[in-house]
Amino acid sequence: MQKVDLKNKTVVVTGAAKGIGKAIALEFAKVGANIVLNYRSSVSEETVAEITGYGVTCLPVQGDVSRFAEAEQVIAAAKEQFGSVDVLVNNAGITKDMLLMRMTEEAFDAVIAVNLKGAFNMIRHASKLMLKQKSGTILNLSSVVGETGNAGQANYAASKAGIIGLTKSTAMELASRGITCNAIAPGFIETDMTDVLKGEMKEALKNRIPLGCFGQPEDVARTAVFLAENPYITGQVINVDGGMVC
Ligand code: NAD
Repeated sequence: MQKVDLKNKTVVVTGAAKGIGKAIALEFAKVGANIVLNYRSSVSEETVAEITGYGVTCLPVQGDVSRFAEAEQVIAAAKEQFGSVDVLVNNAGITKDMLLMRMTEEAFDAVIAVNLKGAFNMIRHASKLMLKQKSGTILNLSSVVGETGNAGQANYAASKAGIIGLTKSTAMELASRGITCNAIAPGFIETDMTDVLKGEMKEALKNRIPLGCFGQPEDVARTAVFLAENPYITGQVINVDGGMVC
């Protein structure tokens, strides 16, 4: 199969105001794709300007992906502005870490609602459009802890393991219609999400990374573009983790 040219394609990235989502939006903009930048509460003018600096259009769309109707509005806005959704990146995610014995029902539900149901909501609405187009690529952000588990992250690890099942099922259902679906499982990437960890915990984590350093958002972003450009890959989980899970 031929490499996909992403120039003038429409890429929807959820939770893209900062961190990995922003890096993904920028990486797609670099190869000429128009960006639908979903954010939950706010996005800076500088971020939008950075993206449009690559000569593409960026449409910021507010919406909480955990809400089915709001996810629908994000896709509707993309369709109205660009007429298609070629790539959907389910990046929005949260953590509410605590040991299982102390974990509240609310902390469990909140993480599942954003990380797992949010991805389902977006896929449900975007795939309708992709089915009509007979093409599209869906990328879901999982995590190494979805593969290995992690003490203190039962809710988060369950959501990210769920993403893998969602990814593989979506890939199987939609392959015959020209739509691919893959997951990216990052290890420890330096963003606000990991900035909250204490110094000694960070050092302990670094010792578990064979390549000996933390990852950067751009490491994940380049993988997202690679997957979107390669239409013969589907149903896979690609680790971007410095060798943490071998
Ligand atoms: P981050 O906290 O910097 O960014 C997460 C973004 O998601 C924020 O912009 C936030 O506003 C947005 N968001 C949260 N809830 C939302 C909602 N309901 N609707 C829309 N947007 C929402 O985190 P990050 O490190 O950039 O993580 C991005 C993704 O990568 C997440 O899915 C995360 O679980 C995953 N991941 C990160 C790491 C890491 O080490 N940073 C590792 C593995 C996986």
